[in-house]
Amino acid sequence: MAVSRELDEIRALEVVRTEDGYHSAIAERAVETRVVTAQAVIQSSLFNAGRAAGVPDSVTMNVAGLFQWDVDFALDIRQGDQFSVVYQELWRDGQRLRTGNILAAEFVNRGRTYRAVRFDMGDRADYFTPEGRSIRRAFIRAPVDFTRISSRFNLNRRHPVLHTIRAHRGVDYAAPTGTPIKAAGDGRVIFRGVQGGYGNTLILQHGGNITTLYAHMSRFHPEVRHGNRVRQGQVIGYVGMTGLATGPHLHYEYRVNGVHRDPLTVELPPAEPVPAAYRERFARETAPLLAFLDRAQDAGDAQLAMSGR
Ligand SMILES: [Zn+2]
Repeated sequence: MAVSRELDEIRALEVVRTEDGYHSAIAERAVETRVVTAQAVIQSSLFNAGRAAGVPDSVTMNVAGLFQWDVDFALDIRQGDQFSVVYQELWRDGQRLRTGNILAAEFVNRGRTYRAVRFDMGDRADYFTPEGRSIRRAFIRAPVDFTRISSRFNLNRRHPVLHTIRAHRGVDYAAPTGTPIKAAGDGRVIFRGVQGGYGNTLILQHGGNITTLYAHMSRFHPEVRHGNRVRQGQVIGYVGMTGLATGPHLHYEYRVNGVHRDPLTVELPPAEPVPAAYRERFARETAPLLAFLDRAQDAGDAQLAMSGR
């Protein structure tokens, strides 16, 4: 009699009963990584195009995530836009377990082509353009998932509580109390406390002499303290209405050299490119991925030509 129980993707615990009792052993099964390429042309929607090309929704969603910095997937997508993707699939015993990383992707939006390749630097992996620039910006445009913008950047605003002309030097993002607030960029906490009408306030210092400010928080994230370093996207606190506020919202400010800029329109600097020490390896390792994309595009063009377009 033998019983086998999966421990994880690779290991299984096997228990065998023999005449002198039970014996157990851990069996390792090989997981094979396959590289898959796909090319999709958008007719009705991004996800339908992905499905028609055999691309799992999770991969399509991650492709959109890669290009979110350049393409507004809610507003900018047009019929005829297309994407190519090179991604991993993990197989075991002839069965597909799941998808792995996206290795390279291309998105053509209204005739403009964007490309991203994955590069593993050992301690972290990230996505870059073929030239080695980051595909991300150093800042997230809106550091909270908001329900609506309740007040815009306006230097001549009448204050809703004080009823005086008071410049509104930030953007108000309305969201339910407790909604997580993310660090807009990598930085260091230089203020964490109560700041008058701003209530619970956090200020981050970033590179390029940029600071961001987050006000009216219901509470701070317990691990984010004065002097701490934070990473872009890390949760730093939660939406609330402490200080002078008529409802729960995040008041968000973006300052360059101490001057307030409109967070909705300010040009956001790019994130760090491939470090100089990795440049050569980057070029060597990403060349085959870019060749994959070229082939996917050629196949797609041939397909379009055959269908008479
Ligand atoms: Zn405000």
